[in-house]
Amino acid sequence: MNLTDLKNDWIKSFPAPLIIAGPCSAESEQQMLDTAKRIKESNKQVSIFRAGIWKPRTKPNGFEGVGVIGLNWLKKVKQEFGFQTATEVANAHHVEAALNADVDILWIGARSTVNPFTVQEIAEALKGTEKIVLVKNPVNPDLALWIGALERLLGQNILNLGAIHRGFSTYQKTKYRNNPNWQIALDFKSQFPNIPLIVDPSHICGNRTGLKGITQEALNMGYEGTMIETHCNPDEAWSDAAQQITPEVLAEMISDLKLKNSDM
Ligand code: PEP
Ligand code: MN
Repeated sequence: MNLTDLKNDWIKSFPAPLIIAGPCSAESEQQMLDTAKRIKESNKQVSIFRAGIWKPRTKPNGFEGVGVIGLNWLKKVKQEFGFQTATEVANAHHVEAALNADVDILWIGARSTVNPFTVQEIAEALKGTEKIVLVKNPVNPDLALWIGALERLLGQNILNLGAIHRGFSTYQKTKYRNNPNWQIALDFKSQFPNIPLIVDPSHICGNRTGLKGITQEALNMGYEGTMIETHCNPDEAWSDAAQQITPEVLAEMISDLKLKNSDM
């Protein structure tokens, strides 16, 4: 089977466009439940709650995630507010713990997508899963690595796949934290129109002001969804503080989006 043969009907079980929101990192049970409660109260359109439990940080000795305890908090978010839940997995241990905790959606982060051994390890640990698995683009602008990661998952009979466009790192500073290089994502989209493509404006922008514009641009190009880092107290976030927004700002932003073919 090839990637082009996939049906990817999973996306149809969510309102369109798919909206994923939640903090960059799980920090405490209270932060998770407060954020989820406020997302639920202010947003009708959010289907999936995200939170990183294991955080791939560029430098050592910083906050690297709360670890497995955060999986209990994701479970509570699901029980109390009915969101499906999503987290990043970066090795076979993460996969095992996330599957045991019944996390609904797993994603492979940009720093893992660059490494075929890591992707292969994750794919084998997930073998045959019916969970939704989303693959972020690699940090470097390499379309083949992105596609290769999806092929490795498909090779383990993982059929509910999606792609997340989070932008590409550059040495020279631009107005973006990660340059969108739209053409790479559009090439992906034209090769695999059947694989849901979700934009991650938070990691593209690295700030709060650009989020709406990037999301709108992506939706105009036919992306199926967006993943936006949302925190109950963004200024105090333990990671990616500058780009996170409150649930109420998220609600305002979503209501300002111009949508075609939407269920909203
Ligand atoms: C994240 O989503 O918080 C994250 C670490 O993303 P990326 O892999 O895109 O850097
Ligand atoms: Mn982040």
